[in-house]
Amino acid sequence: MTDFDWNDYSLETQAIRAGHNRTHEAEHSMPIFATSSYVFSSAEEASLKFTGQVPGNIYSRFTNPTVDIFQKRLALMEKGERCLAFASGMAAIMAVGMGLLKAGDHVVSSRSVFGNTILMFQNYFGKFGVDTDFVKLTDLAAWEAAIKPNTRFLFLETPSNPLIEIADIKALADIAHKHGCLLVVDNVFCTPVLQKPLQLGADIIVHSATKYIDGQGRCVGGAVIASDEIIEKFIYPYLRTGGATMSAFNAWVFLSGLETLAVRMKAHCENAFELAKWLEQQPTVAKVYYPGLESHAQHELAKRQQTGFGGVVSFELKGGKEQAWKLIDATKMLSITANLGDVKTTITHPATTTHGRLSPEVRAEVGITDSLVRISVGLENVGDVKEDLQAGL
Ligand SMILES: *Cc1c(COP(=O)(O)O)cnc(C)c1O
Repeated sequence: MTDFDWNDYSLETQAIRAGHNRTHEAEHSMPIFATSSYVFSSAEEASLKFTGQVPGNIYSRFTNPTVDIFQKRLALMEKGERCLAFASGMAAIMAVGMGLLKAGDHVVSSRSVFGNTILMFQNYFGKFGVDTDFVKLTDLAAWEAAIKPNTRFLFLETPSNPLIEIADIKALADIAHKHGCLLVVDNVFCTPVLQKPLQLGADIIVHSATKYIDGQGRCVGGAVIASDEIIEKFIYPYLRTGGATMSAFNAWVFLSGLETLAVRMKAHCENAFELAKWLEQQPTVAKVYYPGLESHAQHELAKRQQTGFGGVVSFELKGGKEQAWKLIDATKMLSITANLGDVKTTITHPATTTHGRLSPEVRAEVGITDSLVRISVGLENVGDVKEDLQAGL
């Protein structure tokens, strides 16, 4: 199937077929290449491949055919030129920083990003002389005001976790480019099925494949998608040297995840919307955060920027921590876990788990109250999910 130009096909088709060139065994499913190294036909061929003059497999820290199928497929789906896979979402974010930053550089990040991303910027890049300022995701003026002459990139997640706030990617890309910076978008919540940040002007996408791309909670993995130039100059040399590589087995699991991603995302969105509307009608619920609802502050932006509203719903109960914990403990079927993007519905109390390390003042500032509950809506029958929540409401 080497003569296909997969760019001509739609995302659903790419997700199922792109990237796999059948071997001489004529296998229908993707093969797992469980090999750490590859053999050369001559000393000269070895030399040419090592220096990159001739393409080909060298060593599975940076070249593996199964991982390569995953990379090709995800790059096409995100409409990017090239993708590199990593051992985890955090390893992908680490690679962006290690590849692009040097001592004395500056980063502007949304303050509503994954907890470990904040720690990565503050504790690790900070240790090597890179300063990061954190700004409110939806405040465009604050983003622009935080940019300094040494700012290398802006970093954000949209929608954010756990309040599902939406940032205007195109506006932020314009601001970044006006000041000679790059825009990095963590596209975990939407996946390429619902949002294509590169088409909106972003320069780099990072993914945790652990979430919706796997979709069934089996493997940990990540990816970076960008132009050929950015990958070749900044990300690939770091992967080759740093070694936070995705394993062939995990790539194989994620490939089967990609095959069903489009139908799963559609179903996640339907169930989440249904649940959000139902929650809004419950007398013990004070506020529901879901971009599909007209009550959501960035409902119009979400409609413009995304092709679906996603699978995560958060809500505040009337009361405080006690009511939130009671509701969570009253569920019988839902999984009490901070993971998301799974076919199984998960429920979590952000203030005492994912965001428990933030000080109460910072939590209040970002709007994560003690009565806030987050649900990653799975693919069970949504009526059964409602019934499981009903007891605690
Ligand atoms: C989980 C997650 C990450 C980190 O990914 P891992 O695969 O757990 O390392 C980064 N960003 C977001 C939005 C996430 O949900």
